[in-house]
Formats: sequence, C-alpha cells, structure tokens
Amino acid sequence: MRSEIFTIFPDLVATWAGAGLVGKAWRSGAIEIVVHDLRAGAHDPHRSVDDSPFGGGAGMVLAPEPVFNAVEAAQPVRPLFLLGPSGRRFDQAMAQELAAGPGFSLLCGRYEGVDERVAEHLVDDELSIGDYVLAGGEAAAIVVVEAVARLVPGVMGNATSSQEESFADGLLEYPQYTRPAEFRGWPVPEVLLSGHHERVAQWRKAAALARTLQRRPDLIAARGGISPEERRLLVEWGFDALSSSTYGPDRPDRP
Ligand code: SAH
Repeated sequence: MRSEIFTIFPDLVATWAGAGLVGKAWRSGAIEIVVHDLRAGAHDPHRSVDDSPFGGGAGMVLAPEPVFNAVEAAQPVRPLFLLGPSGRRFDQAMAQELAAGPGFSLLCGRYEGVDERVAEHLVDDELSIGDYVLAGGEAAAIVVVEAVARLVPGVMGNATSSQEESFADGLLEYPQYTRPAEFRGWPVPEVLLSGHHERVAQWRKAAALARTLQRRPDLIAARGGISPEERRLLVEWGFDALSSSTYGPDRPDRP
C-alpha cells in the first residue's frame, strides 16, 4: 500500500507519519509513504504557491500552477484526493476500501482553499474528515493515512484486533480494561476475569450494542436496528438499552 502526500509542510507530515505504528510500518516496508513538497512546483524566485482570490475577499488561495506542476512531475499513485470540507466524508468503510487497494494520494490545501480547477481537472475526488474547518489539509492527511495504514495486513501486531474494534460490525467497541482488577475501588466487570471465552464474547457484544444504542443511535439505524437475539443478549447481561448506563451492573458508580 503506497500513499503519496502533497503539502507545503513536508517536514511536518513526514515527522508525524514517521511516529508510532505508522512509522514502524513505513520503516519495515509494510507500507510506503512519499511526501512531496508543493513548493517544488513553484518556479518563481520566491517559490510562492498562493495568490489573492478573484472577486475579492479575505485570505489567499492556493494557485493552480504549482499544484499542477508538482502533481504532474510526481505522477503519484491514483486515486488522488483533494482534502477539504466540501469533500465526501471519510469513514471506516472507506479506510477499509483504501487499505485493500494498491494505494492513494492526498493533496493538502492551505489558506482559504485551493483553486477550483485543481478539483475539476487534476484530482479524482475530494475527501473531508468532518464538518469543521482546519487551517490546512496536513492534519486531515495524517488522519486518513493512519486510519488506512493500520488496516493494511501486517501493520498491526494482532491481525484480529482491527476486526473487533469500533465500526467493524456497525457498532462502537465494547469497553476495554487492563490490570488491576480493582482500581481505587472500581472493579472491572467480573465476567472478564472468568476465563470463560464464550461468556466474555457475549458480554462484549452486549456492551458494544448498549454503548452504540446510547451514544450513536444513527449507527444502529444504519445497520437496520437490533435483532431479537441481540435484544435478548442485552437483557441477559443486564444492559438496559434505554437507561443511561452503558457499563452495565458492574459499574453502578458511573452514570
Ligand atoms: N475556505 C475553505 C476552507 C479552507 S481550510 C472552505 O470554506 O471550504 C484550508 C485547507 O484545510 C483546505 O484547503 C483543506 O485542504 C484543509 N481542510 C480544512 N478543513 C478540512 C476538513 N474538514 N477535511 C479535510 N481537509 C480540510
């Protein structure tokens, strides 16, 4: 899986992508990351990449010339996505799609945005990471690369863990606990200490359902609701789907 990123802050992106899980995967060759400096496409003495907007208004706009130059010189792996709030919303399903493919490239905007001819004639699609406005696409690029890279086979230590976590089954993940079994008087759910794998799996499913019902009813609606079997599981494990507690009877101190 190869990912190429175009930015006016290549050092920033390379530093971030070089840390942690993604950095390790990059160094081991499990994924390939190439960071391109957009200023390489600016041929004037000041290497300027921005200009004031036609029609007036505040701020500057990333000009088409340096962007086209940089992308055409690099011939990056496609699809090439422009990052911006007007784009298609990036989500876990898309991360899975991209992780299964040969790669993708990202173009980071800055200032007030990017000349529209880039969106129309250079990139393949536009991606947004959410309904808010960042100062630049770099943070968004890192979000996309991290979300995709950890799904690439061989990147995460435990291959099954990405299949159990949030969104994998249209649900949020169940709560996680580690030692000590009791911390400041707060015990972990007893079933997790039982060593009974089947019962642990049932509790986790029930807890994930309860948490998703409470926090993200939109996800429950999107997966077509809750089956009678799942409702039985919720009742059996003491998760009242309509109460405010997603932690079940083991966490009465935490509303
Ligand atoms: N004026 C633009 C926002 C420009 S923000 C507008 O109103 O739509 C500057 C750059 O930050 C954008 O070009 C884009 O690359 C990046 N950016 C901002 N918000 C983003 C988001 N939600 N998702 C992805 N990229 C974003």
